[in-house]
Order: sequence, then C-alpha cells, then structure tokens
Amino acid sequence: MSEAAQQDAGFPGLVDSHCHLDFPEFGGKLAEVREEMRANGVTHALCISVNLPDFPKVLDLAEAHDNFFATVGVHPDHEEHGAVDPARLVELARHPRVLAIGETGLDYYRLRGDLDWQRERFRAHIRAARECGKPLVIHTREAAEDTLRIMQEEGAAEVGGVMHCFTETGQVAQAAVELGFHISFSGIVTFKNAGALRDVAREVPLDRVLVETDSPYLAPVPHRGKTNRPALVRHVAEEVARVREMRFQELVSATSGNFFRLFKPPVQS
Ligand SMILES: [Zn+2]
Ligand SMILES: [Zn+2]
Repeated sequence: MSEAAQQDAGFPGLVDSHCHLDFPEFGGKLAEVREEMRANGVTHALCISVNLPDFPKVLDLAEAHDNFFATVGVHPDHEEHGAVDPARLVELARHPRVLAIGETGLDYYRLRGDLDWQRERFRAHIRAARECGKPLVIHTREAAEDTLRIMQEEGAAEVGGVMHCFTETGQVAQAAVELGFHISFSGIVTFKNAGALRDVAREVPLDRVLVETDSPYLAPVPHRGKTNRPALVRHVAEEVARVREMRFQELVSATSGNFFRLFKPPVQS
C-alpha cells in the first residue's frame, strides 16, 4: 500500500488475521460486521478457507471487498473431504486475492484413531505453498510435535506463515519462530485461565506477533460466549499490549505491519 493510501485508510488500523465470515453465523449480517469493524478501527481481515466446496464463498468475500482477503485450504477436522491434490491448491491460489494456503495442520483433539490421512493432507498443503510461493496458515491442536516435525520435513520454512490461534508452549512458539513462522494470538489470551499463554504472548519477538479472532468462535473477554466477529480483535490486541507493557497503538502498528509483510496483499488502486 502507498503511504497516501495508508493514510486514507487511517493506517495503522487493526487487522484480523484469521476469521470465517462465510460461516452461517454471519448470514445477512455482513454490513453490520463491516460497520462494527470500522467503528473499532479494524481495517482488514483475512477470510480463511476450511474446505474446497466452500472456498468460492470465501473468495466472494475477498472479491467483493477491498479490505477482505482469502486463503485456500482444507481444515484438519474435515475428514469427509478426503485427500487434497497440491496442484489443485496451487491453481486456486493463483487468484491475486488469495494470500495464503490454509488453514491446514493437525488436530488430534477432535479426531482420534489413525490420522495418517491428516498428516498426508498437511504435507500436500506445504508442498502447494512451496510451489506457489505463498505462506501457510497452520492450525495445531494437541499435535505440536508432529506439526513441527512435518513442517521441518517438508521445508515449510521456505514460505513461512503463521501458527494461528496459538495455545502451545513457549518452546513450541520458539521452534516455530526459528522456522520463520509468526505466532497469532486469539481471544483465548484474554481468558482468565490462560496465564501460561499470556507468558508466551509476552515472549514472542514483536516482529512475529499477529492477532486474530477466529470468528465466529472464541470471543474474547468481555464478550466470551457470544458470536465472535472481527471488530473484537481489538480486545485481543489490548490484552497482548497489556502483557507486553506496550502502548496499544504501538502493538497495533507492529502486528499490522507484520501482517502486510507476511501476506503481501495486492496494492489497492
Ligand atoms: Zn484453526
Ligand atoms: Zn479457523
């Protein structure tokens, strides 16, 4: 973005680096969601794909609105989806408003048993990301060791990306940072019992911190239990700034700068 464009957009505003605005919770509510973003200084949002049949809806959001962008990928919880051909992901990721591959990764919390298919599909996403040179959006739950191992084996460091909705230890964060990845904090960082995660949020290098909502899930305090939406990323950023003993605006500029450097959205005309 040019400096003039940044000023027009009131830059630096907040960026929600991970949300699911195509989900049914937002049906008919997009105007309201966008107005609430504006009112809270949230200038951009990355709309995350969770499976290929719904990808056109995610892309529609990014095509219809200058400040929404898309990713393409299949979430590890979508067992019914089956294998993903890296070539197909590369083809879909060619669209200029598709900024990343994901969300992908491993989730041993929701699904049990033989999860070889999950690991294979994760590998396919990393191969696609390397092929098209776009970063990865990685979801990991109760699977940190395998996630890091596969990232290493498949050369994920070549493209980098983000460990989204981070809930792992400082050691896992450190390992991901060493692989060139960013760490994204969600509303969980505001939860009362999340002291250990707040310690991680204090320690991650500032140039690798992102913030997100994962809307419609995980609404931050004081909206816990409600439908989450991008405007509420403000509360996540406030909490991360608080634990890092930084000024809010400073944290906002750093995380938004990180977002634009990592995902390189197309310049607005
Ligand atoms: Zn996720
Ligand atoms: Zn998500």
